[in-house]
Amino acid sequence: MVKCDQCQDCERTCPSAAITVHVEEKTFEWEPFKCIYCHACVRACMHRAIEPKANVSSPGYKVGKKAFKA
Ligand code: SF4
Ligand code: SF4
Repeated sequence: MVKCDQCQDCERTCPSAAITVHVEEKTFEWEPFKCIYCHACVRACMHRAIEPKANVSSPGYKVGKKAFKA
């Protein structure tokens, strides 16, 4: 099961500050206009909770939804 524990490794790793993890709210914010699509966040996530979207013509990232459910 994909599971995010709000460790914030992705946020710390992102070179363009495109990710904000709201720990208390258990939400994940990704800003596509800041993202340079380096995939550093994907590699940094020990839980494999971040996956690049398959459709590169509309790039974006998704985080395992179950991970952010209370
Ligand atoms: S998506 Fe991965 S790296 Fe980012 S906060 Fe969740 S577990 Fe940590
Ligand atoms: S792919 Fe985007 S969100 Fe992920 S680390 Fe790189 S710039 Fe940041």
